[in-house]
Amino acid sequence: MSGPSDVLGSMQADGSRLRLQPADVRGRFMNWRRAAFAVLVTFYVAAPFIPVGGHPMIQLDVARRRFYFFGQTFNAQDFWLVLLLTLAFAFGLLLVTAWRGRVWCGWACPQTVFLEGVYRPLERLFDGSREQRLKLDAAPWGASKVLRRVSKFVVFLLVSAAIAHTATALFVSPRELWLMIQEGPGLHLEAFLLTLGFTVVLQFNFWWFREQFCVVLCPYGRLQSVLHDEHSVTVAYREARGEPRGKLVKLGTPDAPQRGDCIDCKRCVVVCPTGIDIRKGLQMECLACTQCIDACDEVMDKVHKPRGLIGFASQAELAGAARKTLRPRVLVYGLLMLVTGGVLVASLALRTPFEANVIRTRGAMPYVVDGDVVRNAFEVHLFNKRPEAATFTVSLRAPDGAQVVVGTPEVHLGSLSDARVPVSVALPLARRPQQVVLVVTDTSSGTVKEVPVRFLGPAQ
Ligand code: SF4
Ligand code: SF4
Repeated sequence: MSGPSDVLGSMQADGSRLRLQPADVRGRFMNWRRAAFAVLVTFYVAAPFIPVGGHPMIQLDVARRRFYFFGQTFNAQDFWLVLLLTLAFAFGLLLVTAWRGRVWCGWACPQTVFLEGVYRPLERLFDGSREQRLKLDAAPWGASKVLRRVSKFVVFLLVSAAIAHTATALFVSPRELWLMIQEGPGLHLEAFLLTLGFTVVLQFNFWWFREQFCVVLCPYGRLQSVLHDEHSVTVAYREARGEPRGKLVKLGTPDAPQRGDCIDCKRCVVVCPTGIDIRKGLQMECLACTQCIDACDEVMDKVHKPRGLIGFASQAELAGAARKTLRPRVLVYGLLMLVTGGVLVASLALRTPFEANVIRTRGAMPYVVDGDVVRNAFEVHLFNKRPEAATFTVSLRAPDGAQVVVGTPEVHLGSLSDARVPVSVALPLARRPQQVVLVVTDTSSGTVKEVPVRFLGPAQ
């Protein structure tokens, strides 16, 4: 082992991986994070299983090309709504990052939530505190170490498999998933391979890869340098107060007055999940997890100094300027989030619960002249977008004397089902209008949709 590198907290000086064993930490932020992890682990695991409006709270039903999201149902035609949702979330994330740094990473990202909320506590159960884990890592392989490692690996694997099944449930309904589990992999090879793939990736990630995902792989992490500016509030070490650092000296010792508040205990370093020393300044690997704040506050309490040597501050504040929250990038990201979110909400509010489109058969005659009558034939494509079945009536508003034939005047459609209804309308050649109006009524909600239909015929 060659010791930590100056470049990356999780890398040794010779470029090899430094296996981090962050110390446990207590404090106010940790209490909040534990509560956040409990809520988010429950949410991430339960979302595909909790029914809202008759469908899972979140599910991407690939086979039927439907997306369920908090009671809203989207089909392939609603792709633009899903795009708006994604954009609103992305702009929200940019806004939070420009304002408060990587708080998403340290508090809500599934990588952190599962690592710190599930796997790390399990590891502590098997291997104990940081000191015990480091001792175990350095110990020679023997029966006891093998037994511990194997049992921890098996438990991690079971947890990974459980989370992988949850991930699969995002693509098939919980009922289908249960059926697949009962019927076995032989009958559902694709779903089995998908779940197996998820399990392997999760196990690799949480057993070995861990903070490397945030440090070297995550594209959002790599964007930090362009999303931050000097006014972004991040976790920061108050250098002016802490330096010159030095070991704690007794009051009255000659050099005591020259010392800053940092006693160089390195507690903030050993609790860091990415292994960085925040005293070196803002670094891209900082996840804003706040563990170093809690750790340092605990140290400050012990040495009877004020808390906050490490805390939330912007680079400008550290340099003596006032905090500036409203800045062009914050305003632009906020505006973009509001616009995309607003358009999404308005579109959802105005969304009709069904679609009715007129389709003329390709290749067929657009109209037929039969004596002094001209006839148009077309199909009405009905699509029920509601999460439940509904009945629709189809009729045509046409001038007196029109002969209208609707193939199925009343159509019963299941949730997200569609049907085509043939319609024929004949009008006197001499008195034909420019258009007739198709009227479709959703009998359950009373929603009426009128679709103008161009009436075709020979030039007059
Ligand atoms: S925990 Fe606080 S006192 Fe200890 S090294 Fe870090 S900044 Fe200095
Ligand atoms: S420097 Fe502090 S806030 Fe940043 S990742 Fe390390 S412990 Fe978390």
